[in-house]
Amino acid sequence: GVAPEDDSHARAWLDAHKDGFGHFINGEMTRPAHLFEVRDPARDTVLARVSQGQTADVDAAVAAARKAQPDWAKLSGHQRAKHLYALARHVQQHARLLAVLETLDSGKPIRESRDIDIPLVARHFYHHAGWAEILEDELPGQGPQGVCGQIIPWNFPLLMLAWKVAPALAAGNTVVLKPAEYTPLTALAFAEIAAECGLPKGVLNIVTGDGETGGAIVGHEGIDKLAFTGSTEVGRLIRERTAGSGKALTLELGGKSPFIVFDDADLDAAVEGVVDAIWFNQGQVCCAGSRILVAESVAARFETLLRARMTTLRTGDPMDKSTDIGAIVHPSQLARIRDLVARGAAQGATLHQGEAPQGCFFPPTLATDVAPASILSTEEIFGPVVTLTTFRTPSDAVALANNTRYGLAASLWSENINLCLDIGAQVKAGIVWINCTNIFDAGAGFGGYRESGFGREGGREGMRAYLRPSDAASGKAKGSE
Ligand code: NAD
Repeated sequence: GVAPEDDSHARAWLDAHKDGFGHFINGEMTRPAHLFEVRDPARDTVLARVSQGQTADVDAAVAAARKAQPDWAKLSGHQRAKHLYALARHVQQHARLLAVLETLDSGKPIRESRDIDIPLVARHFYHHAGWAEILEDELPGQGPQGVCGQIIPWNFPLLMLAWKVAPALAAGNTVVLKPAEYTPLTALAFAEIAAECGLPKGVLNIVTGDGETGGAIVGHEGIDKLAFTGSTEVGRLIRERTAGSGKALTLELGGKSPFIVFDDADLDAAVEGVVDAIWFNQGQVCCAGSRILVAESVAARFETLLRARMTTLRTGDPMDKSTDIGAIVHPSQLARIRDLVARGAAQGATLHQGEAPQGCFFPPTLATDVAPASILSTEEIFGPVVTLTTFRTPSDAVALANNTRYGLAASLWSENINLCLDIGAQVKAGIVWINCTNIFDAGAGFGGYRESGFGREGGREGMRAYLRPSDAASGKAKGSE
């Protein structure tokens, strides 16, 4: 039966902002201007109107961040930690509002927002509060980069904010962040949380808008470090635009990650793994296991089990607590998924699909008879679509796994740990999961190589990305003169 989540709190919050949202600059919300609509993809309704950031807004946000940075960096690690702990606690206090807003705005199932996205956001701030405490001992001789420009995508709106903001602030940087234009609402709610927590003015600034606003951040001379998560195309553009600028840069881009099932794997567990790998967040996950490679000897049995499991997945209203697959974030993404799948079918792929309602939804899809050169094997679909290919030997599996421009993640399934460790070292991927998938931990570095980008987020490597050798033992930051 239908079990809708109560959304009255989020609706009241949206209603309180019905004149539109401004930007969060220097600790205050600016007057709404140049408004654009933010929509609920599942219901095709307008949720809010948000400001399209202009060059002057980015200038004001960078100026506020510049001004605030020296004092923020001068705080002791312990003092910065207290602010980060407060942010973590307040995220927990507002967890329900944030989860419902995230689901309304992005279309992801409420179960995921409530049990995964928002708890991980809090966890990320707690973890980095810990880093602020121990930074001087653990990474001595390092100081903040200065002002960080951060541009994030729509698939995990608040979690991507947390991945970027928490380490930046822990290290003594200040931030100008731009959420994706489809999903700015939880970032705006977070701005209110930051103000409520008494985060010093200018330490965190949020400017909403589209790629043009992002471009103004990328090109701004007052920014010392840029962190971008999004498409490989835009990542390439940013890399070109910042070449020779002196800005530090990290890029988290796309993927086409292999999901390898060896002949001795626990097939039931591996089938559940596929559900997590490609039907989590409608497959709109950069590290989604979108290519199943299965040992020939167990392939028929595995496919039967997987197709049976697919029939039990429920695609529909993301606010329904029993929904497994919610809405696609935006009609333009849906059109892109449909186009790629149609082209794959024209190239000879056989499609096995579940059911999906009318509207901005796409059914869980398994594609078999897919050649390595098929568009379904090579392109990141960023939807609930997975290919299945067989292999004969582990070295064939490695060759197939590495037959991609990307290198973000891989998932290996076998009861033989030595085989997994051996193959894991040969697969070109920044993250290798063994008998699990899509596990995110604030303490572990996450990131790719090749066309999946460079730099790590999370853990010690993630902290390093927000530090540089300090100007003086005092930890005096650039821009404090
Ligand atoms: P996108 O690149 O279109 O947009 C990402 C962000 O960049 C948005 O905030 C957007 O407004 C901004 N932007 C767009 N054009 C810009 C420009 N010219 N200059 C500056 N900023 C600009 O990507 P998307 O469609 O929002 O996200 C999907 C992509 O993100 C997928 O390819 C996915 O694999 C990738 N992704 C990667 C990771 C990772 O950690 N590696 C995580 C999530 C998503």
